[in-house]
Amino acid sequence: MERRKVGILGATGMVGQRFIQLLNNHPWFEVAWLAASDRSAGKTYGEACKWKLDTPLPARIAAMTVMPNVPSGTPDGELPKIIFAALDAEHALELEPQFAAAGCAVVSNSSAFRMAADVPLVVPEVNADHLTLIEQQSWRKTLDDGRPGGYIVTNPNCCAIGLVLALKPLEERFGIESLFVSTMQAVSGAGYPGVASLDILGNVIPYIKNEEEKLQEEVGKLLGRLGRGGVEMLDAKLSAHCNRVAVEDGHMECVSIKLRTKASRQDMLAAWSEFAPLAGQKLPTAPEQPVEFDESPDRPQPRLDRMRGHGMAATVGRLRECNLLDWKFVVLSHNTIRGAAGAAVLNAEVLARLGKLDFKKAEVAQRDVVLA
Ligand code: NAP
Repeated sequence: MERRKVGILGATGMVGQRFIQLLNNHPWFEVAWLAASDRSAGKTYGEACKWKLDTPLPARIAAMTVMPNVPSGTPDGELPKIIFAALDAEHALELEPQFAAAGCAVVSNSSAFRMAADVPLVVPEVNADHLTLIEQQSWRKTLDDGRPGGYIVTNPNCCAIGLVLALKPLEERFGIESLFVSTMQAVSGAGYPGVASLDILGNVIPYIKNEEEKLQEEVGKLLGRLGRGGVEMLDAKLSAHCNRVAVEDGHMECVSIKLRTKASRQDMLAAWSEFAPLAGQKLPTAPEQPVEFDESPDRPQPRLDRMRGHGMAATVGRLRECNLLDWKFVVLSHNTIRGAAGAAVLNAEVLARLGKLDFKKAEVAQRDVVLA
């Protein structure tokens, strides 16, 4: 199968680098276009980027020219129709609509449009059905020449992703009445260069701007139901405390939960181990077991468990009764893989399966024949 060409906006940052790493040799997607700020435009990627990952920067990518942050192609080719975006919210607000209006599927990591009524906020194992919201977006209207237009799809905040993977099986089986979560978030979550070493070494910072609000509202939308008027938020009380800790990668979250119907320890463990909503779909980035439970008394730990499922699984541990609510446990997930770039790549794989990355008239006609 010919690989689809994709672009990366914000390609030089922490999440942009993860995109490069995860898309290198991806069976369905091939990086053909890179952009970042004006500081980087015109340089080769190798010159513009301070590569911070523990696998080598692919030579082909290092030699590519970083393009200006506008929706136009390169001297060698057209602008790809699939754009992975890793911009901060301020720039995403301005740039993502320009790419959607230019007919691209913008698969975004930013918070800028996550809570917009017609923008899906999606974790495929949790609420892939919300992707139909893209058909309500103004950019998506069929173009004059009969091709479908562009759209924006988002993935959640890095903490919300690991958390909802653990919560979805519980919500499905028992319902969630209230939830208390306290996070310990890695420094890579703040981008590069991020938090100054003098601030974080030997320290914990009990404040991450807007993070508690984002976590609370995004969990409500992700676990909400898609109704006629859009997403109806989860009817549960949520309270979040967010902290930055001196860990490189991997966000840990301590959760206390009250369920709507009683669940035993065995019921909770079965809900997690039987949770496999993407099984059989053969999506290259989907982990076989999205929620892994570890029985050890001192797990999960960021250094030891963040790469489970190639960085795409959430690890749950320390399940025990809670004196305030019903149960308490710990969740860990990789913040720049499952919590960012990997989440977006998986969203794009689901969009491909649904035919939502088919933009040429011929592709759409072909798909309609297959569906009929
Ligand atoms: P980052 O390391 O600060 O990278 C920011 C990127 O945006 C860089 O490539 C930068 O390019 C580019 N940029 C800055 N201004 C620009 C402009 N005017 N036009 C085009 N590109 C511009 O940030 P990050 O950690 O990768 O995060 C990116 C986004 O993902 C943020 O919205 C963040 O909230 C979200 N996110 C991050 C994580 C995480 O764990 N890090 C998890 C989930 C979501 P230059 O190199 O040229 O400056």
